[in-house]
Amino acid sequence: MALLEIRNVVKRFGDFTAVNHVSLSVNAGEFFTLLGPSGCGKTTLLRMLAGFEQPDSGEILLDGKDVSNVPPEKRPVHTVFQSYALFPHMTVRENIAFPLKMAGWSADKIAPQVDELLEDVRLSKFGTRYPHELSGGQRQRVAIARALVDRPRLLLLDEPLSALDAKLREEMQIELINLQKEVGITFVYVTHDQGEALALSHRIAVMNSGQVEQLDMPETIYSYPRNRFVADFIGQCNVLESEVKAIHGDGTMTIAIKGCGEMKALAREGVTVGQQGWLALRPEKIKLDRELPELANEAYFKGRVHDCLYMGDVTLYIVEVGEGVRIEAMLPNSAPGLAKLFDDNDLVEIAWRFDAGSFL
Ligand code: ATP
Repeated sequence: MALLEIRNVVKRFGDFTAVNHVSLSVNAGEFFTLLGPSGCGKTTLLRMLAGFEQPDSGEILLDGKDVSNVPPEKRPVHTVFQSYALFPHMTVRENIAFPLKMAGWSADKIAPQVDELLEDVRLSKFGTRYPHELSGGQRQRVAIARALVDRPRLLLLDEPLSALDAKLREEMQIELINLQKEVGITFVYVTHDQGEALALSHRIAVMNSGQVEQLDMPETIYSYPRNRFVADFIGQCNVLESEVKAIHGDGTMTIAIKGCGEMKALAREGVTVGQQGWLALRPEKIKLDRELPELANEAYFKGRVHDCLYMGDVTLYIVEVGEGVRIEAMLPNSAPGLAKLFDDNDLVEIAWRFDAGSFL
């Protein structure tokens, strides 16, 4: 049984629908992320899980019980916000102990529980400090420890790392992954940062305009986006105008890429001959060299380098392959030395395996 089940939930503010018939379930022990651009409804959905908002219709089940109308303090659910919301006049220990004190625990029961959490968030040496004596990352770890100290069934995290600088954010991502593994509590995480979602999550629900566009493992979302919104929102993606020419019995089809020519691609269920669409292809799935062999299971085109964007670890080459058709290919700068491989106007060949992209 799923730990959390969201059934057909709708939330309106006046005549604006912020969450529009969302259904999904989250498994026990899962690190689950709601990802989407600003205004897509992810925070509103999270607030309904916490009990700060009530759905207009639909149900929210926790451990099989409908909690839609249970007030926040009665749910076995805690939330960590972007602003740490620590008590400034309390030490780290007192902050973490606070929920247990409120629940009437005795001091001798509280102490070992707080010690364990301090260890989990690697702050054992900081118990007597006050929040203003901590870095942003440490403060957020205290907030997370406080939210976990009474072992909720579900921890909700609303953009908890967005106030931190890039380097610290990366460190905290690793901490969060390890902490979640350690405590085994189910996390529902809200972010608009696709890199963060891919790095942290077991599964991601990509949201847009109050609806879930795709729900899958990070690898699937990234490699096989289901529609244009997901392809464009997550990472860089070539989106090439195409038409279905023939469907074969072996799960493949022939498509014509506009201005470029025909190639094989994976057939998607329900496609029909003549259907217009796009081939979505990640730049790093494309091979690029001065000469490439023409293989039976690959698309192959000749082209000319139009632009090079050197990015340190990789270079993005924009290759013109047909009239006005440009394909972005990303290659690692892994050769020793100043390793940019090609320059503007170089004649090159590009290829990709027919199962490297998805037809949208
Ligand atoms: P962000 O990352 O910017 O917070 P989000 O995806 O979390 O975006 P929500 O905060 O869920 O988006 O908001 C979804 C939509 O609902 C937005 O257009 C917002 O303006 C609207 N909205 C949210 N709360 C209210 C409210 N209390 N009253 C009216 N409109 C609201």
